Amino acid sequence: MRDLTPNGAAKGKVVSMPKRTRFANTRSGFDYLIVGAGFAGSVLAERLATGLDKRVLLIDRRPHIAGNAYDHYDDAGILIHRYGPHIFHTNSQQVASYLSRFTKWRPYEHKVLAHVDNQLVPIPINLTTLEKLYGLKLTPEDAAEFLKSKAEPVAEIRTSEDVVVNSVGRELYEKFFRGYTRKQWGLDPSELDKSVTSRVPTRTNTDDRYFGDSFQQMPLHGYTRMFENMLDHPNIKVMLNTDFEEVRHEVQYDKLIYSGPIDEFFDFRFGKLPYRSLKFRHETVDQENFQPVAVVNYPSESVAHTRITEYKHLTGQVNPRTSLTYEFPADDGDPYYPVPRPENAELYRKYQALADATPNVTFAGRLGTYRYYNMDQVVGQALSMYNRIVEAEERDGAIARAAREMMTVNGALRAEVAQQGAGDD
Ligand code: FAD
Ligand code: UDP
Repeated sequence: MRDLTPNGAAKGKVVSMPKRTRFANTRSGFDYLIVGAGFAGSVLAERLATGLDKRVLLIDRRPHIAGNAYDHYDDAGILIHRYGPHIFHTNSQQVASYLSRFTKWRPYEHKVLAHVDNQLVPIPINLTTLEKLYGLKLTPEDAAEFLKSKAEPVAEIRTSEDVVVNSVGRELYEKFFRGYTRKQWGLDPSELDKSVTSRVPTRTNTDDRYFGDSFQQMPLHGYTRMFENMLDHPNIKVMLNTDFEEVRHEVQYDKLIYSGPIDEFFDFRFGKLPYRSLKFRHETVDQENFQPVAVVNYPSESVAHTRITEYKHLTGQVNPRTSLTYEFPADDGDPYYPVPRPENAELYRKYQALADATPNVTFAGRLGTYRYYNMDQVVGQALSMYNRIVEAEERDGAIARAAREMMTVNGALRAEVAQQGAGDD
């Protein structure tokens, strides 16, 4: 078996088995087959193995664990994220303390600048953004007043355009949101649910952090290392380079957890659920620093990429060179983003009804439940799913115990009746 653990930090638990391995004779198979070794699949694998002593086979079609959060050291020795910048932030104490079992943390508060009017200004829009763009000197009260004068109130806020125009007006909407969103989604903000641009707040103070969450830290040795620790359990077998289709009829298992795209699982029966993809251009440049912060956004439609990430800001690594990722949105390719709009939610509901009617299969994660979730939300969802599994097992266990007790009582009664009958003779 070839060890495919990334970063050369293999502990011998993550393995790639030859394709077409037959499992029919494996010691009574697995309790769970889990498809997808991202946050959803890996958290559930860890919980089921550690908490319930289940035997789990975790598969992924990619050659690595960690799903979209996968990071690795590139040729320059810099820790980069293969699928674009992944910044950990959460308000959930439960999620933070769960993940803390598998990693130490490095404090990091994410800062983003936007390239607008030929300068770099803070996004989310804040007091400094307004001062720089309009050459003003403002107090927070002035900034609030200024935005109020620009805002164009929308009676019913439904779309991603409504949200922004309602809070900062059309001019700032066009500078920061319209072009970026059109590029990122291939749709106008007026065609997208309000939840998309609502992710980015507006501030009237000088807080220039991208997120306001109470816990903002990065895994000290990266995400992949954290996943390796999570999956380091004798009950968990990991198979990489393995598509569900290849093993679904070859592996014995009782229950299935599926964190791939739900429409694919059902052979696109009701049609394809739209997912937006990205192409990544990773490069290393011969200079120590490239940009002042980890991420610079490019809202202009005259530039093809949406953002550039410089990873050294996330890790604090010291290196004479620096590594970057450019993101180019695309229709084709790996499914990265569910597309939040009413018709897609409608289509998803059909698949969800089918999922509810499919016994012994649970759908999880961003693709399995078609939700534009951040990492912490996926972890929270997986932990809740695990709690429901525990409750169901306890219920089943209680029913089985009650049935056993009933049988014992019945048996005793029958014996008593039989004895009485024998006595009557
Ligand atoms: P995934 O990580 O997608 O894992 C699913 C896995 O299933 C994949 O590895 C896939 O290969 C595998 N799979 C699918 N189908 C099959 C099959 N049939 N057979 C075998 N394997 C299969 N979140 C944040 O909190 N902060 C951020 O800064 C952030 N930045 C992001 C940036 C980008 C560019 C993207 C795309 C996402 C970002 N996210 C961020 C979101 C984050 O990536 C997700 O919330 C999280 O990774 C979802 O985990 P998951 O397990 O649901 O899915
Ligand atoms: N957005 C934008 N301009 C920006 C930043 C964000 O228009 O400078 C919009 C865009 O539609 C984007 C959404 O807000 O897809 C959510 O932004 P976020 O940074 O959360 O996107 P993600 O990191 O998930 O790609």
